[in-house]
Amino acid sequence: MSRFFSKRFSSLEAYVPGEQPQDMQYIKLNTNESPYPPPQAVIDCLNADEGEKLRLYSDPECSRLRKKIAKHFGTDSRRVFVGNGSDEVLGFFFMGFCDSTHPVAFPDITYGFYKVFADLYALERKIIPLDDNLSVNPDDYIGLGMNVVIANPNAPTGMCISLTDIERIAESNPGNVVLIDEAYVDFGGESAVALTERYDNLLVVQTFSKSRSMAGSRLGFAIGNEALIADMETLRYSTNPYNVNRITLKCGEIAMESGDYFAENCRLIAETRDNTAKRLAEMGFTLTDSKANFLFTAHPDYSGEMLYLELKRRGILVRHFSAPRISEYLRITVGTPADMDSLCEALEDIMKNGIK
Ligand SMILES: *Cc1c(COP(=O)(O)O)cnc(C)c1O
Repeated sequence: MSRFFSKRFSSLEAYVPGEQPQDMQYIKLNTNESPYPPPQAVIDCLNADEGEKLRLYSDPECSRLRKKIAKHFGTDSRRVFVGNGSDEVLGFFFMGFCDSTHPVAFPDITYGFYKVFADLYALERKIIPLDDNLSVNPDDYIGLGMNVVIANPNAPTGMCISLTDIERIAESNPGNVVLIDEAYVDFGGESAVALTERYDNLLVVQTFSKSRSMAGSRLGFAIGNEALIADMETLRYSTNPYNVNRITLKCGEIAMESGDYFAENCRLIAETRDNTAKRLAEMGFTLTDSKANFLFTAHPDYSGEMLYLELKRRGILVRHFSAPRISEYLRITVGTPADMDSLCEALEDIMKNGIK
């Protein structure tokens, strides 16, 4: 740390992204990217013509993309906010709606960035433990009188709460914003986007990074009440009005025309997930009921850290968290069926030959 860094941030623990190793080719099952490429039309738009236009700023209003997202969800583009990855969108929520009179509540085991944002903006927060079976108990969020952030499906467990519960949470916290992070909703969850028409305090966030195969393009969005979206726009124009670059905007617009392609990929990933879950269960693993594009799993006889390291030695990267309640678990992104065959074979090999 330099001697110039503000004391405000001197103890800030930054978010630690999953490894992106450059040393060798791994089967990469650690950051929940899609194993399938973006639609061909998206790839084809990355041409010299678009390259030439890089001298020009992007459209600060992201009008065409917002219209396409609005059309897809059957809503108005004034209810759509677009950001540089959903991480940026989440950041605006913490920056803009949380303060000393509006503390923020979220689960103890969830997307690690929520705590980082709460620290960054020095927010009061209530960390609510998951149940013993690692699920979110919706009753814990009823009438809290705080802003609420819930990933649905949750990460890294993949488990869902129902739309009825989301309604109860929004309805019982009318003076606060309830943010539902739907990064993984397309793999088997139910979206709360339609509920945002009825609850002016409900904000739903989605991303192009997982189900839409575009993690590298950095594109996310929020849908909610027009006034909430206008507030986020105020913050965006006060920080970085050109937050979404030209190429990403273009790719996003084309991607929004490829709903069938994405739906088929999601179906395939969900099928691969469920088949892999069965095989792991047969090997003695316990699993949460994941509706996401990853599995969350532990084995009674092998430590999570040991499995992570042994898989890495065999060229397969998965995610291991050292946090107390989940240190025996692995989060394994669902890859292609061939990737998952390699994973299962490596695990069988570890169980036969690995160090216990
Ligand atoms: C991956 C992920 C995000 C971040 O997505 P980006 O759009 O790539 O910034 C947000 N929330 C959750 C729960 C995620 O897992």
